[in-house]
Amino acid sequence: MADIEHPLPNASWETRGYWEGAGRGEIVLQRCRSCETVQHKPRGLCVSCLDGDLEHFVATGRGTVYTFTVTNQNQAKGFAEACPYALAYVELEEGPRLLTNIVGCDPATVEIGMAVVADYARPERSDGEDFAVPRFTPAEPAP
Ligand SMILES: [Zn+2]
Repeated sequence: MADIEHPLPNASWETRGYWEGAGRGEIVLQRCRSCETVQHKPRGLCVSCLDGDLEHFVATGRGTVYTFTVTNQNQAKGFAEACPYALAYVELEEGPRLLTNIVGCDPATVEIGMAVVADYARPERSDGEDFAVPRFTPAEPAP
Protein backbone atom coordinates (compact mmCIF):
# COMPACT_ATOMS: atom_id res chain seq x y z
CA MET A 1 0.00 0.00 0.00
CA ALA A 2 1.58 3.26 -1.17
CA ASP A 3 0.96 6.76 0.14
CA ILE A 4 -1.69 8.79 -1.65
CA GLU A 5 -0.14 11.13 -4.21
CA HIS A 6 -2.13 14.23 -3.35
CA PRO A 7 -2.91 16.80 -6.01
CA LEU A 8 -0.79 19.89 -5.37
CA PRO A 9 -2.59 22.49 -3.27
CA ASN A 10 -3.16 25.87 -4.91
CA ALA A 11 -3.49 28.83 -2.57
CA SER A 12 -5.95 31.66 -3.04
CA TRP A 13 -5.77 34.86 -0.98
CA GLU A 14 -8.20 33.20 1.44
CA THR A 15 -6.39 29.87 1.78
CA ARG A 16 -2.70 30.89 1.64
CA GLY A 17 -2.38 31.09 5.45
CA TYR A 18 -3.74 27.58 5.80
CA TRP A 19 -1.44 26.02 3.20
CA GLU A 20 1.64 27.90 4.39
CA GLY A 21 0.87 26.80 7.96
CA ALA A 22 0.65 23.19 6.82
CA GLY A 23 4.04 23.68 5.17
CA ARG A 24 5.43 24.61 8.61
CA GLY A 25 3.74 21.55 10.17
CA GLU A 26 0.85 23.52 11.68
CA ILE A 27 -2.93 23.46 11.35
CA VAL A 28 -3.85 27.13 10.95
CA LEU A 29 -7.48 28.09 11.57
CA GLN A 30 -9.37 31.37 11.51
CA ARG A 31 -11.11 33.01 14.49
CA CYS A 32 -13.55 35.89 14.22
CA ARG A 33 -12.48 38.82 16.43
CA SER A 34 -16.10 39.94 16.79
CA CYS A 35 -17.90 36.73 17.83
CA GLU A 36 -14.94 34.31 18.41
CA THR A 37 -16.30 31.71 15.98
CA VAL A 38 -13.52 29.36 14.84
CA GLN A 39 -13.92 28.35 11.21
CA HIS A 40 -12.48 26.18 8.47
CA LYS A 41 -12.25 26.36 5.43
CA PRO A 42 -10.57 29.75 5.34
CA ARG A 43 -12.82 32.58 4.13
CA GLY A 44 -12.82 36.34 3.88
CA LEU A 45 -15.80 36.64 6.22
CA CYS A 46 -17.00 35.03 9.44
CA VAL A 47 -19.53 32.28 8.68
CA SER A 48 -21.47 33.21 11.83
CA CYS A 49 -21.72 37.03 11.91
CA LEU A 50 -20.30 37.98 8.45
CA ASP A 51 -17.69 40.27 10.01
CA GLY A 52 -14.44 40.49 8.04
CA ASP A 53 -12.21 40.95 11.11
CA LEU A 54 -10.61 37.50 11.23
CA GLU A 55 -7.35 36.34 12.78
CA HIS A 56 -5.34 33.22 12.06
CA PHE A 57 -4.05 31.03 14.86
CA VAL A 58 -2.18 27.73 15.21
CA ALA A 59 -4.46 24.90 16.34
CA THR A 60 -3.28 22.03 18.51
CA GLY A 61 -3.32 19.55 15.62
CA ARG A 62 -5.32 17.15 17.79
CA GLY A 63 -8.80 15.85 17.13
CA THR A 64 -11.05 12.83 16.88
CA VAL A 65 -12.47 10.91 13.95
CA TYR A 66 -15.99 12.30 13.43
CA THR A 67 -16.81 9.88 10.60
CA PHE A 68 -14.88 7.96 7.97
CA THR A 69 -15.02 5.51 5.09
CA VAL A 70 -12.46 3.05 3.81
CA THR A 71 -11.92 3.38 0.06
CA ASN A 72 -11.12 0.04 -1.55
CA GLN A 73 -11.41 1.10 -5.20
CA ASN A 74 -10.33 4.38 -6.75
CA GLN A 75 -8.89 4.42 -10.25
CA ALA A 76 -7.76 8.05 -10.07
CA LYS A 77 -4.04 8.63 -10.58
CA GLY A 78 -2.28 8.95 -7.25
CA PHE A 79 -5.05 7.18 -5.35
CA ALA A 80 -5.33 3.74 -7.04
CA GLU A 81 -2.03 2.51 -5.59
CA ALA A 82 -2.95 3.69 -2.10
CA CYS A 83 -6.11 1.56 -1.75
CA PRO A 84 -7.38 0.68 0.74
CA TYR A 85 -7.17 4.06 2.51
CA ALA A 86 -9.26 5.86 5.12
CA LEU A 87 -11.03 9.09 4.16
CA ALA A 88 -12.35 10.88 7.23
CA TYR A 89 -13.75 13.99 8.77
CA VAL A 90 -11.62 14.82 11.79
CA GLU A 91 -13.19 17.08 14.40
CA LEU A 92 -10.43 19.32 15.66
CA GLU A 93 -10.20 20.24 19.35
CA GLU A 94 -11.04 23.82 18.30
CA GLY A 95 -14.31 22.68 16.68
CA PRO A 96 -14.00 22.71 12.88
CA ARG A 97 -14.09 19.44 10.96
CA LEU A 98 -11.43 18.73 8.36
CA LEU A 99 -11.85 16.38 5.40
CA THR A 100 -8.64 14.37 5.45
CA ASN A 101 -7.05 10.93 5.49
CA ILE A 102 -6.11 8.71 8.40
CA VAL A 103 -2.66 7.24 7.81
CA GLY A 104 -0.08 5.32 9.81
CA CYS A 105 -2.40 2.46 10.70
CA ASP A 106 -4.41 -0.33 9.09
CA PRO A 107 -7.55 1.40 7.71
CA ALA A 108 -9.59 -1.48 9.22
CA THR A 109 -8.63 -0.24 12.70
CA VAL A 110 -10.01 3.31 12.23
CA GLU A 111 -12.99 4.03 14.48
CA ILE A 112 -15.35 6.93 15.09
CA GLY A 113 -14.14 8.82 18.15
CA MET A 114 -10.54 7.66 17.71
CA ALA A 115 -8.00 10.25 18.92
CA VAL A 116 -5.75 11.46 16.10
CA VAL A 117 -2.93 13.96 15.58
CA ALA A 118 -1.92 15.89 12.49
CA ASP A 119 0.74 14.62 10.15
CA TYR A 120 1.75 16.25 6.85
CA ALA A 121 2.25 14.90 3.34
CA ARG A 122 4.67 16.97 1.30
CA PRO A 123 4.01 16.47 -2.39
CA GLU A 124 6.96 17.47 -4.56
CA ARG A 125 6.47 20.65 -6.51
CA SER A 126 8.69 22.91 -8.55
CA ASP A 127 7.08 26.34 -8.14
CA GLY A 128 8.87 27.31 -4.93
CA GLU A 129 5.76 27.04 -2.71
CA ASP A 130 6.25 25.14 0.56
CA PHE A 131 2.78 23.73 1.13
CA ALA A 132 1.88 20.42 2.75
CA VAL A 133 -1.34 18.39 2.92
CA PRO A 134 -2.62 17.77 6.46
CA ARG A 135 -3.63 14.21 7.29
CA PHE A 136 -3.91 12.44 10.62
CA THR A 137 -2.44 9.46 12.45
CA PRO A 138 -3.66 7.65 15.55
CA ALA A 139 -2.70 9.57 18.71
CA GLU A 140 -1.92 6.29 20.43
CA PRO A 141 0.17 3.59 18.76
CA ALA A 142 -1.85 0.67 17.39
CA PRO A 143 -1.99 -2.27 19.86
ZN1 LIG B 1 -18.11 36.36 13.73
